[in-house]
Amino acid sequence: MITAYQIVIIIQIVALAAAMFGTYSLFCSMLRPESKYLLAACVCAVAYGLGYLMEILAKNPDMAFDALCVQYCGLAYLAFMFVVYLIRYTRIIRFHSAFWKLVFVYETITLGLVLTSRYHHLYYRALTFEENGIFPHFHEQGTILFYLFMGHLGILSFTCCVIALRVALTTASAKRKRAFWGIFVAAVSSFVAMIVSTMVGFEGYEPTSAILLLVLGVIAVVKTAGRTTDPVELAYAHSYQRAKVGLIVLNEERCYLDSNLSAQQIYPELAKQDVGSNFAHTEELMDAAGRNEVMQIGERYYNVYFYQLGDEKVAYGYVIGVSDITESEMRAREFAELKKAAEEASEAKSYFLANMSHEMRTPLNAIIGLAELAQKDDSENTKKEYLPQILSSGQMLLDIISDVLDFSKAESGKVDIIPEEYDLGECLNTVINVINIRLGDKDLDFIVDIDPTIPDRLIGDDARIRQILINFLTNAVKYTDSGFIRLAIDWDKLGSELLLKASVTDSGRGIKQEDIGKLFSVFSRFDLKNNRNIQGTGLGLAITGHLIKLMNGTYRVESEYGKGSTFSCILPQKIA
Ligand code: ADP
Repeated sequence: MITAYQIVIIIQIVALAAAMFGTYSLFCSMLRPESKYLLAACVCAVAYGLGYLMEILAKNPDMAFDALCVQYCGLAYLAFMFVVYLIRYTRIIRFHSAFWKLVFVYETITLGLVLTSRYHHLYYRALTFEENGIFPHFHEQGTILFYLFMGHLGILSFTCCVIALRVALTTASAKRKRAFWGIFVAAVSSFVAMIVSTMVGFEGYEPTSAILLLVLGVIAVVKTAGRTTDPVELAYAHSYQRAKVGLIVLNEERCYLDSNLSAQQIYPELAKQDVGSNFAHTEELMDAAGRNEVMQIGERYYNVYFYQLGDEKVAYGYVIGVSDITESEMRAREFAELKKAAEEASEAKSYFLANMSHEMRTPLNAIIGLAELAQKDDSENTKKEYLPQILSSGQMLLDIISDVLDFSKAESGKVDIIPEEYDLGECLNTVINVINIRLGDKDLDFIVDIDPTIPDRLIGDDARIRQILINFLTNAVKYTDSGFIRLAIDWDKLGSELLLKASVTDSGRGIKQEDIGKLFSVFSRFDLKNNRNIQGTGLGLAITGHLIKLMNGTYRVESEYGKGSTFSCILPQKIA
């Protein structure tokens, strides 16, 4: 029959085993693998010290034996754990892991022998409880196993001293030097205390555990003073706090736990967010992360990611990371726009070349065809009939080539504006004559409306002004089938200068709103379906716009599709 007493003992042993396992898994969860050996060594030192306190307080052999057992729970592994910590931390010597396992098994067997030594004499030949000395204590008479274990402890303590001394002497870092001198002092003092108390004996008192605990305590307080000094732990903490990525930590129910500085810069309300409350943007952020979308917060762009802390089966919490990608996103957008523009330009160039060849071939074909006909039949009548046509086709070809030349000059910045004194009336006359010829037999009213008060003698580049007006008017003629075209010239005085205002209005086909912005760019021709019979290279307005800008002028287009357009410009000119 199991007694209640035995059940209690069993429960206590199970509970102790559970607590030991719990402590072990806590050790394993520590970030730095070697730190857990240091912690284990400290726990052992405390158990050893506690056992020795129990021995001091023991009033009878049974209590003293229990105290001895507690002492050995710590003593069995203390030096070993410390050596493993030192070796792993300093990486001075390397042993095969089987060696450590063997040592561990040896120490566990020794502990087992001590705990059961009431029933055998394998470890102690005799354990006599003596009432003399400072306090009643055991007088231990060990077997060979006892002395072997003492030797084992001696070797381990000596190893600690040697490693600590070696690092303290050789390391370059002053901080490391200080730390290892501390460890050396702790190891040497306990080693010496152990030997001295074995040899001399202080009336039954062994100061080893007290010295070891005191030195450990003092070193720990001096070294850390309650702060984390481990660089790896510090690196973890700092990297989290100072990361450029905003980090928001949620618990397993996705409620707010913590956030770093970057996250608080993005969402200032996080600084006051209560732990355990719902953060308002959680869903939105998780959605963006799930869809792998760039998220816009205010004026800036962010990449959002979301991951679970833990493994596939258990979630201990979640992290939302928000990284600012505004610069790269802007660059990507700019690049996409440039790419689009480059593609459009290249398309326009191809179109221009095709169109250009077509435009040049038409008058050339006419010239060659008419010349051949004239060759075959060289009567006066034929010549009179064909020569004007050959001339106008030649003129057309010349116009196209002049446009190309003008444009390439403008592109390479070689167009100069040469201001000279000129007569505005004469200049406008030439324009009107050219346009009258271009009107040919088109049934259009050509209205000319010139303010008679404009000063006649001006200083500017009249050839370029003619070119601009002829271009606007030629387009008006080309793109107007019926109705009128109108040239209006007006002016404003501006100090010693005047602003010459010219506008060309037509009742023609007009331009779609979306095309107006592109009119003055290179190679652009619009509404090709309706305009396919009209000759043109798409260069005219590009050259005109360039000339107006060179003259410090401005231009403007108003148009209604299907109803007509007005092209106007304002050019500053000096009064002669
Ligand atoms: P093009 O040699 O084709 O006339 P421009 O640069 O002079 O080249 O004109 C570019 C395009 O602008 C033309 O193809 C035409 O679609 C449009 N455009 C120019 N002027 C007018 C206008 N007065 N009415 C309607 N469309 C016009």
